[in-house]
Amino acid sequence: MRTAPTILHLDMDAFFASAEQASKPSLRGKAVVVGGLGPRGVVATASYEARVFGVHSAMPMAQARRLAPNAAYLVPRFGFYKSISEQVMGLLRSLSPLVEPLSLDEAFVDLEAGGVAWDEASARLAGVKLRADIRAVTGLTGSVGLAASKMLAKIASEQAKPDGLVVIEPGTERALLGPMSVRTLPGVGPATGDHLRRAGITTVDEIAEAGDDELVRLLGKAHGHGLYAMALAHDERPVVAERETKSVSVEDTYDVDIHDRVRVGLEVQRLADRCVRRLRGAGLSGRTIVLKVRRYDFSTLTRSETLRGPTDDPAVVREAAARLLDAVDTTGGVRLLGVGVSGLADYTQEDLFAQAAGEERADRPPEESDDRPEGEPEAPVERRWPAGHDVRHAEYGHGWVQGSGLGRVTVRFETPDSEPGRVRTFQVDDPDLEPADPLPLVPHMPPPAPHEPPCAPASNEPHLPPASHLPPASHESPTPLGTRRPDGPDGPGTAVSQDSSGPATLPKSRSGNAGGGATSRP
Ligand SMILES: [Mg+2]
Repeated sequence: MRTAPTILHLDMDAFFASAEQASKPSLRGKAVVVGGLGPRGVVATASYEARVFGVHSAMPMAQARRLAPNAAYLVPRFGFYKSISEQVMGLLRSLSPLVEPLSLDEAFVDLEAGGVAWDEASARLAGVKLRADIRAVTGLTGSVGLAASKMLAKIASEQAKPDGLVVIEPGTERALLGPMSVRTLPGVGPATGDHLRRAGITTVDEIAEAGDDELVRLLGKAHGHGLYAMALAHDERPVVAERETKSVSVEDTYDVDIHDRVRVGLEVQRLADRCVRRLRGAGLSGRTIVLKVRRYDFSTLTRSETLRGPTDDPAVVREAAARLLDAVDTTGGVRLLGVGVSGLADYTQEDLFAQAAGEERADRPPEESDDRPEGEPEAPVERRWPAGHDVRHAEYGHGWVQGSGLGRVTVRFETPDSEPGRVRTFQVDDPDLEPADPLPLVPHMPPPAPHEPPCAPASNEPHLPPASHLPPASHESPTPLGTRRPDGPDGPGTAVSQDSSGPATLPKSRSGNAGGGATSRP
């Protein structure tokens, strides 16, 4: 392990919610919850103001609404977040060729490989400058952790949140880790965490005390050894620039086609469990769940669902696989089934349950990979005004949907650099109103003046004129934020998205056999 804290972990603060607040002046300093607003929706990100009420990622949306009824509830704009993410990743790549993204808003950087840091002082300097650059280019804040290993760098950034920088000095790692929860360690998801707790192991120190043999007995050879080493703060994993496309998958071919839908469902559950066992055996987790179905006529379908982040929880994979199966027509019989997990990582994050995939579906048009059986209805497209999404009105200009329902849509007209704007209500089919692209958060590059932070303070109250001053064509909406749901933009998902960029098909070379070849990760 290196002797200087030159591995950097960046994690943007409450990323989706912060991006929304920067985008919508009226929401700055307010509780904002981004996530699926449908019946099965979960919270993707809560702003720090919303976290005060106990709202957190992965919480069912209904529970969040009970805790914070006055928060703004917004449907994610993944395209917008992705464009900000690209700016951030660009800054990271200017520091080092070794940048390993973990999600849209999180990445490791090997500063030493980039020649920008070689000791604590230079690493700290690089971290400080990076945070300032991110702020200048995106208008958002990110927290930085610096340590001599990936595991510790990630722990450091967690401690730095929000809007901070923490350096863990080499030599202090074990004392720091000892009292922490086992869940702090890479590869310990909810399932592994429960398993360890049943064995009486809840802290990192207790893993160290239990010893290597006991860990191997509990978790198997690969996972047990790895975790024991991590507990001793031994983490030699390099920062890997490009993750090869890898997946862990299993599949079964049936001698006789399966016609019974219930049986098909059970087979998929069984395959999901088997797939997760291999995944966890390799100490990995994955983001994208893939279902493969070969039908009686040899037509082969793959369906995939991408979670917000990696999981190794069998329940999550089972649920995702079952949802994918829901959208597949199996009448006529099935001759092969497969379940795979790709988008592999060696981290598992608590806030990344499968339901979060519902939000991604809400943002992407449904696509299919192979074919669409005749007679299968097209997915409904009537979801024009998701809460939080951008619109443009011929007369009033750029705004965002504050809510819709009962044939009307309420729009707040404001832009990232405007004062908090005014609300107007229109008929949903108003010809003057159309969906729009998000506006950039920082209009003029480079950086804005330091005393004009894009995220204004909480005191930034809307300045609404009296209702009588409004033109007769519209009126001030009495609807508080988030109390109306959009007209079913993300009901119980019928649409299943195909992750077109990802490895949607199951590599044959890894399929089938129970042992070995589960992954090509070193
Ligand atoms: Mg983050």
